[in-house]
Formats: sequence, C-alpha cells, structure tokens
Amino acid sequence: MGVVGAGGAGFPTEVKAASRAEYVLANGAECEPLLHKDYELMRRYPGEIIAGMKRMMEAVSAAQGRFCLKEKNRAAVEAVEPVARKAGIGMTLLGDFYPSGDEYEIVYAATGRLIPPAGIPLQVGCVVNNVETLLNVERAARGESVTRKFVSITGAVRQPCAFWAPIGTSFADLIAVAGGMTVERAGVFVSGLMMGSLTFDLSGVVTKTTCGLIVLPEDHLLVRRRSRPAQAMAHIGKSACDQCSYCTEFCPRYLLGYDVQPHKVMRTLGFTLSGKENWSQWGELCCACGLCTLYACPEDLFPKEACDQAKADLRAAGIKYVQTKPVRVHPMKEYRRVPQAQLRRRLQVEQYDAPTPFSSAEPHPARVRILTKQHAGKPAAPCVREGQEVKRGEVIARMNDGELGAFVHASIGGRVARVTPEAIEIEA
Ligand code: SF4
Ligand code: SF4
Repeated sequence: MGVVGAGGAGFPTEVKAASRAEYVLANGAECEPLLHKDYELMRRYPGEIIAGMKRMMEAVSAAQGRFCLKEKNRAAVEAVEPVARKAGIGMTLLGDFYPSGDEYEIVYAATGRLIPPAGIPLQVGCVVNNVETLLNVERAARGESVTRKFVSITGAVRQPCAFWAPIGTSFADLIAVAGGMTVERAGVFVSGLMMGSLTFDLSGVVTKTTCGLIVLPEDHLLVRRRSRPAQAMAHIGKSACDQCSYCTEFCPRYLLGYDVQPHKVMRTLGFTLSGKENWSQWGELCCACGLCTLYACPEDLFPKEACDQAKADLRAAGIKYVQTKPVRVHPMKEYRRVPQAQLRRRLQVEQYDAPTPFSSAEPHPARVRILTKQHAGKPAAPCVREGQEVKRGEVIARMNDGELGAFVHASIGGRVARVTPEAIEIEA
C-alpha cells in the first residue's frame, strides 16, 4: 500500500513490520523548530494512530508500546493519553529540547536502552514509527494506499496552516493554500530548518516524506548560511576554527556516549594531501542534526558540513570506523540539552513561531508529479503508459519481489501525461 516512514527517513514500513521486537515506540516528538504537523495529527486522529500502533505491535509481537511526545504539547497529550491507556500503551513525555525526535534519543528516553554505534533500534528490541506512518498503517489495513501527505506550511506566509495534500503537488500550490508569501524573494526550507533542505525552486513536489515548508526571506541568516558554497565553508573553517570544542560538547550523539567529535573533524580542513582520514573517523556516527553548525559554534562555522564531507570521504576510501569503547551516557547530558526557545532565538526565527492550525483546504492541483523514489531502497518501476487514465489510489509504479522499496500510487484521478524513470506526471 506504499507505506514508508513519513517522518523523513522513508524506510519501507513492511520491512519493520516483518521483524520481531519487544517494544513499538510511536514517535510524536517533532523537534524541528516551527514544524507542528504531527502535533495537529495527534490532536485530530488519536484513535487511528493508536489503532495503527496496535497493528504494528501485533505484527512484530511486541509486548509493550510507548507513545513518545512532548509534554508541552498539552492538547496532543490530552487527545492521545486516554486512547493509549485504553489500548494498554504507555506514555513517554519528553522535554521541549532539540533533537528529541532522533531515534537514538527516543529509544533511550522510552526504554533506557542505547542503540549500538551505527546500529538500528531493532538491535535493542525496538521498532520506532512516526505518528503519521502509524496513521497510514491503519488506513492501509482498511484498503487505503498512501496518496496524500500531511504538511505544515509556515514562516513568511499569510496564513500558516497544516493540511493534507496529494503527493506530487508543487510547492507553489502548497504555499498558495497558506495564503501566499509575505515577501517577494524567499528561500524555502523543505522538512525543517535543521535537517531539511533549502530550495528556491517552487516547482519542487511533495513526497511521502515531506513534513512541511518553512518560507524565509532570501536575506535571512539561515538562507544565507545554507547558500554558502561548500568550498567557502571549508575555507572559513580552516582559517577560523580555534578548536574550542563547543561543537563536540553540545553534540547530542557525543553526549549519549557515541564517539562523535566534530572539533576533531574540523582538523580535516587543514589537510590537503594526506592524513585526513585520521580525523574523518570522528564524523562517522554523526546524525546530521545540525546543532553544532547552527547552535553550538561561537564562530558560526560549519562542523556539521565537515562531518558530512568526512563521511563521504570515508565511504569513498572504503574505510568503516567502528567504535570499540563502550557507549556510556555523558554525565553532563541532561545539563547540556538545547531548549527549543533558545534554539529559535539563535536561529533568528522567533517572529515565525506561529501555530499551524489544521485546515480542510486541501489543494486540488491540475497536475501532479509523483516521484518513483520517495523511500529508502530502489526507485519503483513505472507500470503505466502515457495517455492512460488512472484512478486515485491505483498502483502506477511497483517494486520487484525481494527489492527494498515501496509501491507508488496515483494521488489524483486523471490522464498520465508523462512517464520517466524518475517521475510520473498525471493531469487531473
Ligand atoms: S565550535 Fe566552532 S570554533 Fe569551536 S571547535 Fe567547533 S567548529 Fe571550531
Ligand atoms: S550534526 Fe553536529 S551536533 Fe549533530 S550529530 Fe553531527 S556532529 Fe553532532
């Protein structure tokens, strides 16, 4: 039915459902600043989300379920808690910190277990699903394939809001539902300021993993920082990093006990011929949360981007770093958490911190462009031809047996206008 991780990873849910685990954890932490779509979903659909969670628990034979969300989201807690209690599912209430939605953090908060370095939750008996994924599981079980995505649109727009959109809807159509932009020239962060991507192209489209759009003026600090060429990031890092190690001291993975030390990775910038690999290894277990670059570094340098490069270099050199020392939580972890309010201030986005209330104003695009790879694994292979009529929910691209991936379905009814290996376009 095309269900994949809707929180961003896009991992095919059927693979998780085929495993065996002690715990199923619902991830409703939603810690990207300004994004509130899971909050709206939990308030509106607690019954379906819990029903999907029960189905996952049954599938993996889990004896326990825990629903993880932030305590400060009172309305969501009040909606979910009674339904969860009735279903025998416990609650894990999280503080308002970044990054509380990281799988390693969620597993530790809910069970006290630490995932092995570079490992997955299953290795400590856990399956973690985003709340929208669980909603999709329930709907899939009732025969409804994944054709719509719940997104929140916020930032420099007239009416920040959250709504369902057909997969393949353009960013321009989404922004129109939110009343249009309040600025003439903007950068658009897709799925988050910290871990999302920046685009200036409004013909980009919604996929099964798009969490929302954050529109910021083109001259905003974050747009300027993200637009810097990689070479400039490396150049300024090489000349200005004073090895203060704040990036490491605030790194959430380091504080959980993993060997991530971005200040050491910054040393790679000083090597031009050989020796880089000695320092790249300290970036291998980085989860790309962005905290070191956007919050911790007092010099506004780019340690996260240095870690990205280090991981790519290690991959290219065929080197796999394995942490041998035991994973032990840092004694200062609890005292070095980053409150959301402080993060918003540092990112200079406080003025955009507005609710994104649920809206029934679903867009009705004249044309959608549905990507064949919206998931981890291989792209799905198109199985429709140009000119063919399709109904909403019909399979338009499929996987072969044994391949990792997910089927793709028509998000609107209409005529197939264009088919390429990358995308299928449908005209309403
Ligand atoms: S926080 Fe900034 S200046 Fe300090 S070591 Fe890290 S990258 Fe260098
Ligand atoms: S992006 Fe920075 S803070 Fe986040 S895990 Fe990687 S090194 Fe640590």
